[in-house]
Amino acid sequence: MANFTDTNMKRDLRSITKEQLEAEVSDAGFERFRARQIFRSVHKNKVKEIGKIHGLPKDIKEFLNTGYQIKIPHVLQTSVSGKYETFKYLLNMGGTKNGNRIETVLINEGRRNTVCVSTQVGCNVGCEFCATGKMGFSKNLSAGDIVSQVYTVCDQTGLDPTNLVFMGMGEPFLNYSNTISSLKILTDPEGLAVSSRRITISTVGFKGRIKKFADDISSEKNYQIRNVKLALSLHSTDRGLREALIPTSKVNELSAIYDELIYFYRKTGNKVTFEYIVFPGLNDTDKDVARIEKISRMVPSNVNVIPFHPINFKLSEPISYLNSFSDKQNSLSKKNINNFIAALRDRRVVVNLRKSSGEDINAACGQLAAIEKIK
Ligand code: SF4
Repeated sequence: MANFTDTNMKRDLRSITKEQLEAEVSDAGFERFRARQIFRSVHKNKVKEIGKIHGLPKDIKEFLNTGYQIKIPHVLQTSVSGKYETFKYLLNMGGTKNGNRIETVLINEGRRNTVCVSTQVGCNVGCEFCATGKMGFSKNLSAGDIVSQVYTVCDQTGLDPTNLVFMGMGEPFLNYSNTISSLKILTDPEGLAVSSRRITISTVGFKGRIKKFADDISSEKNYQIRNVKLALSLHSTDRGLREALIPTSKVNELSAIYDELIYFYRKTGNKVTFEYIVFPGLNDTDKDVARIEKISRMVPSNVNVIPFHPINFKLSEPISYLNSFSDKQNSLSKKNINNFIAALRDRRVVVNLRKSSGEDINAACGQLAAIEKIK
């Protein structure tokens, strides 16, 4: 019992940025270079026990053993898509309760390996089309939990991540400081060293957050994350419809969010992506096309069109009609999507169709729910 409590109180070395570790090691009276040695072992060599960090004097190991641990997620379930291109992991991030379960996905497309990272257990934004939103919110993940997902899925698949998208479970901007710390750790040249150009953070948009994010990633001390890209989950340009789909947009109006996107581009020079799930007949009208064109001209941007992926939860208005979507309607919806994309391209909007990777294992956009499959 005593051990369990002690371990819980120890800090996770995977959660600590290199600068923080340097400060803590030097405050404890050790040379700063020891912090870099520890950081490299934990994040580059992925050492899983403090005792296995090579080349440390006994007194530093004792210092680490007293106040720190290396938390390793437990893989509860692995699902592989029929085409062997998408791998989904149900992970327990520590403890035994369901409240610590998340899902992480790796999509392998030739030489490109994209990890879809979760930032929260559940989510309290409650988007109508999203399985995670239907789960409710349990807790924020620590920076170490966010980083550990990437290490675990790469260990499990034997693949190195080339791209990271913070589009898994949770809203990254509602777990802001841990998200920023995880970005700093994952991009650190003495760690996994993922290029910040290959990382995208997705948000539904909260007043003040995009501006703060722009300021933070452009500050000198955060130079290694300055090229992180931003995606706005748009899904509708009509105020009423967007509020019905994304409840938090009632107090985070698009007009304010657009101003912050302009600020983001001016401050960082980074392009913006608009994520857009097509709900046939609802948000793919000519008016929608015209409004998207206008929005896409505000800043250099592209629009990612995403097919709706069915979820294992009952849908309410305005998308309750999708509860009984048949195969026939599904092929109609493909036609809708193609027409919508063509109409946007006619207006010279840069638009891509997002592939539905892993839909057969509930690993596609909007489907993550951390529910164990009954075998
Ligand atoms: S789409 Fe994102 S913000 Fe909305 S409920 Fe799902 S995880 Fe939360």
